[in-house]
Amino acid sequence: MPAPESGEFREHKITNLTKDDAMSSSFIPTTDDEKTYCTVHPTVESGLRCNRCGRYMCVRCAVHTPVGYRCRQCVNQQQDGFYKAERRDYLLGVATAFGIGLVTGFIVPRLMLFGVLILSFPAGVLIGEAVWRVTGRRRGKYMRQAVIAAIVISCLIGLIPVWQEIGPVVSAVLNPQVGRGAEQLRNQLIGELVGTYLLPALFYMGMASIMASSRLK
Ligand SMILES: [Zn+2]
Ligand SMILES: [Zn+2]
Repeated sequence: MPAPESGEFREHKITNLTKDDAMSSSFIPTTDDEKTYCTVHPTVESGLRCNRCGRYMCVRCAVHTPVGYRCRQCVNQQQDGFYKAERRDYLLGVATAFGIGLVTGFIVPRLMLFGVLILSFPAGVLIGEAVWRVTGRRRGKYMRQAVIAAIVISCLIGLIPVWQEIGPVVSAVLNPQVGRGAEQLRNQLIGELVGTYLLPALFYMGMASIMASSRLK
């Protein structure tokens, strides 16, 4: 049997890396006469290889994962396997978050300060848990964003009566004919609106979003 050519031999050796070899090191030293280039960026020299598919990749293309460096394509493929939610799950999840959000988003921002501080968290947990269950515990790449949007929009809808109160205040602000007394009254009104509804609503939306999305990670 003829001895294998050195180049062939090297190639043979590399493609036959065992899984353990690949896991332990994704950095395979190359000799000077054997320059290798990034698969995506053919002008960038790189000896770094993806430890899953073995292709060469430059630092821009490499993604650091808990099991070593991988190329973007392999990472994306893995994520696609990880996210199993279908269109139906998104619809159910968003509808659930929206439905609960209409109730909690109406009640919680209208409570006294401590009520808002204390109940925004469980409201978010409740929404996250409910979405997690109705979607059959299938993760979705954009599920968290969709649920956060549902929380924010449902809360803003609950604030419609407040928006209607804001209207006259805004037109009063824009009216240059207001006297001093009216100006004070107007500032007081704005302060009340902000303190009574808008800040609590913002706190609720933020906290509920954080809690719900951490449940859906
Ligand atoms: Zn790869
Ligand atoms: Zn590259």
